[in-house]
Amino acid sequence: MSSASIEDIITKLAANNIDTIIPTIDNEGNISYPILEGQSIPVEMLEDAVKDNMLERHIYKKMLICPIHRKVLNLLTLHCPQCKSNDIKKINLIEHITCGFIGERDRFNNAGKLICPSCSTQITEKNSNMLGAWYICNLCSAKFNAPLILFQCDNHQLDIAMVDIKDIFYYTVTKGLIKNEYDVSEMFTTIYQILESKNISVVKMHSIKGRSGVVHTVPLYINDYRGNDIVIEYCIGDNDDTSISSNTFMQAIIKLMDLQAKHMILICIPKMIDELRYMAATNNIMVIEGNNKNVIIANLLDIVNSRMLQNRRG
Ligand SMILES: [Zn+2]
Ligand SMILES: [Zn+2]
Ligand SMILES: [Zn+2]
Repeated sequence: MSSASIEDIITKLAANNIDTIIPTIDNEGNISYPILEGQSIPVEMLEDAVKDNMLERHIYKKMLICPIHRKVLNLLTLHCPQCKSNDIKKINLIEHITCGFIGERDRFNNAGKLICPSCSTQITEKNSNMLGAWYICNLCSAKFNAPLILFQCDNHQLDIAMVDIKDIFYYTVTKGLIKNEYDVSEMFTTIYQILESKNISVVKMHSIKGRSGVVHTVPLYINDYRGNDIVIEYCIGDNDDTSISSNTFMQAIIKLMDLQAKHMILICIPKMIDELRYMAATNNIMVIEGNNKNVIIANLLDIVNSRMLQNRRG
């Protein structure tokens, strides 16, 4: 799993109609994010994906953790506050107001009625107080209503003052599914704005004359006027989950080949036909596949950055 990129994982999740990554906590208190095939995805990777706007983070639970081992404390025990013994018993105390006797409820039970063991009067709501749940220590006989709570970590115990509270998150795939041409144009607007903000010279709906003399229009064109240009084209399948038809794909390839830009990027939504992969590769066309706007944008910016950087070095 460590070798798989977050893009791969999100694509895989999308293919399986999963859009939420929920944490699990094992008996030892370790938090993990299992996804498909029982594999876990490192939390650092999830956090990076949140920064890249591919995942959204939400609070799942606030949990108590050991500040040393960072494990969730899901085993707690109750102890006598006086001698710290764990050998304590929960009791219900009744006070007979009339005679002042206080004792365990068990001691009042008498043939289905509650009778005071001290003065033999029947207990009623008016002549008694139910003192609620108490605890009694079997070791030192102390009676108390607030037991000491101890949390068990690996090989040590912590009291409530020592534990930390940690937000445990779950993650959802950021909305951004491309369903139609409108979504595509929105995506290109976003890419355009990001590139412009980085002072990259970019043109929307740019017309260029190809070698054949035909004028083509591409949705995005980047040119740094140092002989380094990038043409960005896309093609889209007929509906959400079908590959792009070979016809549509071929048209895009032919158009890009006619343009002969230094770098050519073809965005395939959602994916190209496997048999045509070689077509893109042999014509030096970089392909981005997917149907999540944010994933495509992240991939595209990666390529643009690396190409522009290469050029700056050269
Ligand atoms: Zn610990
Ligand atoms: Zn005790
Ligand atoms: Zn009594």
